[in-house]
Amino acid sequence: METIEAHDVVVIGGGPAGLAAALGARRAGAGGVLLLERERTLGGILNQCVHDGFGLFLYKETISGPEYAERLIEDVVREPIKVETGAMVLDLTADRVLRVNSRAGYRLVKAKSVVLAMGCRERTRGMIEIPGTRPAGIFTAGSAQNLVNLQNLRIGNQAVILGSGDIGLIMARRLTFEGVAVKGVFEILPWASGLERNVRQCLMDFGIPLELRSTVVEIRGRDRVESVVVAKVDDRLAPVAGTESVIPCDTLLLSVGLIPENELSKRAGVELSPITGGAVVDQTLMTSAPGIFSCGNVLHIHDVADWASFEGFAAGERAARYAAGERVAGGTVRISAGPNVKYALPQFLTSGAAGVEWSFRVARPLRNVQVLVKGKATEKVYSRKKFGRLLPSELQKIKVRQTVKEDLEVSCHE
Ligand SMILES: Cc1cc2nc3c(=O)[nH]c(=O)nc-3n(C[C@H](O)[C@H](O)[C@H](O)COP(=O)(O)OP(=O)(O)OC[C@H]3O[C@@H](n4cnc5c(N)ncnc54)[C@H](O)[C@@H]3O)c2cc1C
Repeated sequence: METIEAHDVVVIGGGPAGLAAALGARRAGAGGVLLLERERTLGGILNQCVHDGFGLFLYKETISGPEYAERLIEDVVREPIKVETGAMVLDLTADRVLRVNSRAGYRLVKAKSVVLAMGCRERTRGMIEIPGTRPAGIFTAGSAQNLVNLQNLRIGNQAVILGSGDIGLIMARRLTFEGVAVKGVFEILPWASGLERNVRQCLMDFGIPLELRSTVVEIRGRDRVESVVVAKVDDRLAPVAGTESVIPCDTLLLSVGLIPENELSKRAGVELSPITGGAVVDQTLMTSAPGIFSCGNVLHIHDVADWASFEGFAAGERAARYAAGERVAGGTVRISAGPNVKYALPQFLTSGAAGVEWSFRVARPLRNVQVLVKGKATEKVYSRKKFGRLLPSELQKIKVRQTVKEDLEVSCHE
């Protein structure tokens, strides 16, 4: 029979969420905390984000991605947390047995509680089905970021960027610094998907055009990309005939969305939300599988790494309390997204819970907005908050201080 190594809390993933989860678990008193990271270094995606803009909320100053990672790592190594890099979790069961492949070999690990912090991956060309040839020169924005920032490679001379997600915007500026002519960013929606500050600082400051309601309808080139054809789209996002134009370029970057990496969660039978792509969680960030918690980009996509870390601290603390035997009754109050809200998280609460904070995203840009958290049955307003403007790119928070015993709806009204 295979021997099983036992730990109180096992964290899967050593990015800003997982590092914070390990710290949160330790600070909440967990004795044996194991952090598993498949890469050779901790830090996750932060390592390739060499620009600044990180840490404003956690450290009250703006630092680069690697600096942000370094601070968290320094805190982790000061604690008696067992850290293993080069350790890939291959499988996870509902009763929290992990199959791990690492430098030490293949083994089974049993955890009293598990924190999922595996991050996300990018949508690819195949997923958005752009017609045309299959030449070299097409990259997801994140893989281009990796090649340029970590491997010091030049990826092309003239680039077009499809999609205005934050990584694409950051890469428009980065490629410009590298001497690449960035011909434009083409976004199918009527608004930018990335943060407003990134549109300003990465495109407008460098005179890079942002074309909204536009998409790439064809890629041309035999060995290497030679040009792309772009076109305007109508209200149903279908290309409008007669609006096509050809843009010569040798590189196409795709910044068309991120997908939470939940293969392990599925193996453990964790219920996933079709909207966020991440787990459905209660107010303790526990998934539908008892003792399995989730945080960071694997739970829902974060625009700011600090929020992923705050969620990590909370998930780690709750995982430690679970490992110590604390049980919170299952979520019986359901929270749904009402008018103009894409999603609200957590999706469940224990009846009688109080002081719960929700993360939410709006479905479209809104001005002079009132956000309401209302009882579904009684229409009682549990919380209201006013915003001058809300954008789909920005994750927002709203708190309910009162005790909740009925299903709720989060809605936004102009
Ligand atoms: C390509 C890319 C670029 C980004 N650039 C920026 C940016 O410039 N600015 C910004 O604010 N935000 C950026 N983001 C958003 C940023 O990822 C999040 O804010 C934050 O880093 C999420 O942290 P995380 O810990 O959830 O995920 P990650 O940082 O992705 O960490 C997840 C970790 O889990 C590990 N892992 C996954 N599966 C396993 C497994 N089975 N076993 C062991 N380990 C595993 C991964 O190797 C990884 O290290 C970017 C995201 C991506 C995908």
